[in-house]
Amino acid sequence: MGWNTPDDWSSYTYTCTRCGNSYHASEGGCGCTEDMVRCEGHCNDYHDEAEVTVVDRGEEGPQTLCVGCLRCDSCRDAAVAYDTTSGILTCAACANEAAKEDKKNGLPDSVLLPINQEVTCG
Ligand SMILES: [Zn+2]
Ligand SMILES: [Zn+2]
Ligand SMILES: [Zn+2]
Repeated sequence: MGWNTPDDWSSYTYTCTRCGNSYHASEGGCGCTEDMVRCEGHCNDYHDEAEVTVVDRGEEGPQTLCVGCLRCDSCRDAAVAYDTTSGILTCAACANEAAKEDKKNGLPDSVLLPINQEVTCG
């Protein structure tokens, strides 16, 4: 029983962008990301478990974000909460501003889900 492999099978190798190791297409990927967690933010990259935070996004469910993606959607400062009312990540300063605006406009307070940075794994 033999494999029906193409002639250029040996050229189906890729170089891992993370560790520089080359791996064959049949391996499905470089093993270096096996113990890592993929960030669901815009970077779409793998990170150590310690570098990611699972953000509670209410009805949208949890989202795994790395430190680089865990940013306020308004000012790119480190986010401290997820605003379920406007669907954005927010920092303390922007949350305060939004609360002031809401008050001024007679709107109810936004529902903020605080981001727990002290995620303990295992
Ligand atoms: Zn690798
Ligand atoms: Zn990320
Ligand atoms: Zn902000």
